[in-house]
Amino acid sequence: MTDSEQQLQALALSVGQARQSAGCATVPAAATMLDIPNLGDEARQGDCLVSMLASGSKGNAAFFQCGNTRVLIDAGISCRRIENGLKRYGCTLNELDAVFITHEHTDHVNGLATLLKRTHMPVYTTLETWQAIGRKVEDFTERFVRLPRRLVLKDLQVEPFSISHDAARPVGYTLYHGNCKMTLATDLGFVSPEVMQAASYADILVLEANHDEEMLKNGPYPYRLQQRILGARGHLSNTAAAKLLAAIPSKGMMRVLLAHRSEKNNTPALSLHTVRSVLSRSGKVVGQDIVLRLACQHGQVRFQDGGNT
Ligand SMILES: [Zn+2]
Ligand SMILES: [Zn+2]
Repeated sequence: MTDSEQQLQALALSVGQARQSAGCATVPAAATMLDIPNLGDEARQGDCLVSMLASGSKGNAAFFQCGNTRVLIDAGISCRRIENGLKRYGCTLNELDAVFITHEHTDHVNGLATLLKRTHMPVYTTLETWQAIGRKVEDFTERFVRLPRRLVLKDLQVEPFSISHDAARPVGYTLYHGNCKMTLATDLGFVSPEVMQAASYADILVLEANHDEEMLKNGPYPYRLQQRILGARGHLSNTAAAKLLAAIPSKGMMRVLLAHRSEKNNTPALSLHTVRSVLSRSGKVVGQDIVLRLACQHGQVRFQDGGNT
């Protein structure tokens, strides 16, 4: 058994323990990840790459490289970590064309001021989000570009869409490059028609699978925080993400990165197990219609190829 397989088996075993300690029903023995291909934190289609440099409540940053265009969505980790993440792809901070921000929560903007200080690129977001970020970025007002409904940036067309979350005016993003459609939808309380439309026919979809509802309800979070996460302006559960994947139309194979996973109220194996179960009931075949990958809090952890770099 390789190192990566051992890691996977340990994670699969941890599911039962996590759910038992949370007072949940035991996950069936089928909840193993060993037969799920292509685990990792990146997805490619043609000359498009989507890489989650980090994903979760401690920090988020997604790197998109499409032809000659390179952008970030969110800068919730340190500028140094972003720089190190980009190195994997031979990209430097100054080769980024823009940074797009989804909303003002710290886990999405923590590294933004330093990133803007060290680069010359514009930052796109809604006016309400920019104002809510506030003093952290007051020295960079001239770099702020208010999001239009649609914009073209070199080889990319970018379309923001509204999401329901407890922030000033949060958005997700759809990016088009040639025939490739890429959508990022994290930090959302429920799947609105706009989110459905943004996810439909995506070649690459970054989708929140934040928590297992039973683990959350039986877990360590105080009641009010549980209600916030479960609410319409909170976060998307594994089951809600799975139902979206089961319902949306696709071109063929859709590459899905499950993202913004809670470290307290979810596990990698449990989110995969839930999504696989719902998908199999819907008739979609994992590995054929949908390729699932896991975005991790520390983007360098990759289970696919045995590399722990
Ligand atoms: Zn977040
Ligand atoms: Zn948030």
